[in-house]
Amino acid sequence: MIHEVEELFTRQVRAWPQLAKGVEGLARARTRPVRIDWFDIFIRHISHRMASTTAPVDRESVARRPCFLCAGNLPSEEEGLRFDENFTIYCNPFPIVDRHLTIAHREHGSQRIANQFGNMLDMAAALAGYFVVYNGPECGASAPDHMHFQAGSRSLFPIEKDTAGLTGVTVPNYARQVFLLRGRDRSALIHRMDRAIALLAQATGKRPEPLVNIAVFHEAAEWVAYLFPRGKHRPGVFYTGELTVSPASIDLCGIFVVPLAQHFEAVTGDAIAAIFREVTLPDGQFQQVARKLESER
Ligand SMILES: [Zn+2]
Repeated sequence: MIHEVEELFTRQVRAWPQLAKGVEGLARARTRPVRIDWFDIFIRHISHRMASTTAPVDRESVARRPCFLCAGNLPSEEEGLRFDENFTIYCNPFPIVDRHLTIAHREHGSQRIANQFGNMLDMAAALAGYFVVYNGPECGASAPDHMHFQAGSRSLFPIEKDTAGLTGVTVPNYARQVFLLRGRDRSALIHRMDRAIALLAQATGKRPEPLVNIAVFHEAAEWVAYLFPRGKHRPGVFYTGELTVSPASIDLCGIFVVPLAQHFEAVTGDAIAAIFREVTLPDGQFQQVARKLESER
């Protein structure tokens, strides 16, 4: 699969000017690490993320625009690679990371994780060296009306190093709230993820789906999954204009995207930690779910 993805990239960079532009933009992107407590966050300035960071995702705005993930609306140069009977892999023309992919369902239908986590695990297993992420419809998905995942190279994927060797369900003192689920047994892992999501729905009263971001990778026959329960979509500083940032899965995994140059220079580790705390679940609700998950292991 990786070989076919590499070939798709090579062909598409030649054939599709918008992707070539995005790849060049990423090559020019500046990245600087900032130390927070015991871990690093990599702040990345990418101008071409402006539209995604500020995308209106309310029902009316989404209904008004043509869906950019429906096969019939894709630019003529864009080519997909079949993953399975339901999902097709595309190159993302607005990359945050190397080999940034969008993996879209063939049918136009709501972004929902129910019955989809197994597909995520299969994608992660097929894409060696990559991560796969899911952004909930109310916390980072710029197409909340069309089921999709994203994937990218783990050449930079800070959370992997941060959590190497950790065996607990939570990651202490990590600024953001995250549940860590590991395992070699596909169905047991699906069951645990479904349970965690059900507990979050119960704790937050958000239905049909609690606000979540999810990241998964597969290494040495084991899946590692990160479930970020969210308290809100965008931080206060986004609305005041102080910082144009809108964290989703990749940001929470440690690559903090900043589309404006002046914000790239100005943002501090303390500010990022505060934003992570603000947008992930408040500690009381988080600990309540963590205790239940821990007791069911
Ligand atoms: Zn669509």
